Amino acid sequence: MVLRGTVSGTRSIPIPGGSCWSGRAGPAGGAATIRAPFHSSLSPALKLVREPRVYVVGRQAVDPQSVQEFLNDHGALWETDALAPGEKIAEAAGRICYMSFGKGRKSNRDYLTNILQSAHGSVLEHAVWNFIFTGVSRSLTHELIRHRAGFGYSQLSQRYVDESDSDFIEPDVIADDPKLHAIWVDAVNQSRKAYDQIVAGLVEKFASVESATLRRKMARQAARSVLPNATETKIFVTANARALRHFIELRGDEHADVEIRKLAVQICRLMQKEAPALFGDYTIRRLPDGSEATATEFRKV
Ligand SMILES: Cc1cc2nc3c(=O)[nH]c(=O)nc-3n(C[C@H](O)[C@H](O)[C@H](O)COP(=O)(O)OP(=O)(O)OC[C@H]3O[C@@H](n4cnc5c(N)ncnc54)[C@H](O)[C@@H]3O)c2cc1C
Repeated sequence: MVLRGTVSGTRSIPIPGGSCWSGRAGPAGGAATIRAPFHSSLSPALKLVREPRVYVVGRQAVDPQSVQEFLNDHGALWETDALAPGEKIAEAAGRICYMSFGKGRKSNRDYLTNILQSAHGSVLEHAVWNFIFTGVSRSLTHELIRHRAGFGYSQLSQRYVDESDSDFIEPDVIADDPKLHAIWVDAVNQSRKAYDQIVAGLVEKFASVESATLRRKMARQAARSVLPNATETKIFVTANARALRHFIELRGDEHADVEIRKLAVQICRLMQKEAPALFGDYTIRRLPDGSEATATEFRKV
């Protein structure tokens, strides 16, 4: 497995009310830790995140021996200059349709560009990657999991995992406005305090439940109802190239929500490195507000 993601740095910025936040920050804002003086003693310092983080944790491998056996069995010859296994697999899938191994377009890039041009998108479903997304809000993953076709998900459980030390995703437009930022921090801290108090109260209430794990689950599953959409989550995502393209087109679009657009742009950049023949047609442009959006002439292949 290969881990990949954004680079982090460190910075410290004053916030209203005399507090300051400091910590690991990504190139465009990144994760940070805010030390809020009014916070409950039960909870650790409030940690804020501004950028999603994407880890490409899995990719396919081609079995060359098996491919050669197939070619031998069918009297076919095939060489490809594909660099990524996903590109090679997509080309092989396309060539099966017409038994065109060794014929027609010579380069993998030409072959897959023709697949995109002709919208023969089902071929791209054979190329699959695995990701972990962190530093994303529950509202982002609510939008993400609406993408059904070609996606698989496994998300952090708020029933099992203690959220008292969770990070929170602050929207840029709020973070950049000192007055709104202070209101937002206050609201999140109130939610965290309520969460801690409700968990503590419910654990006491369920004292007769023998299993400590069950007791905590019963408390957390009820207490999570006060946590905001901004609560950070982690999600394992598996997706094929066709599904990823559809996601990048819808969520990298300038009309998409800012947070999920950042994720889509980041995925687009990673996939352009992973498989340029499958994702190289996308352009990334800067919008007047400084954020980024994706575009392609081959939509919904
Ligand atoms: C800017 C924006 C605003 C949005 N606002 C809202 C909103 O206000 N409220 C809301 O509820 N959602 C909203 N959505 C979510 C949107 O409606 C989709 O649920 C989401 O984008 C996933 O798209 P999809 O269904 O095409 O993707 P997938 O589920 O991955 O499907 C991919 C494609 O497969 C085909 N497909 C999948 N399932 C079926 C099916 N059952 N029958 C036929 N064809 C199918 C379709 O061609 C579909 O486009 C918004 C999305 C965007 C990008």
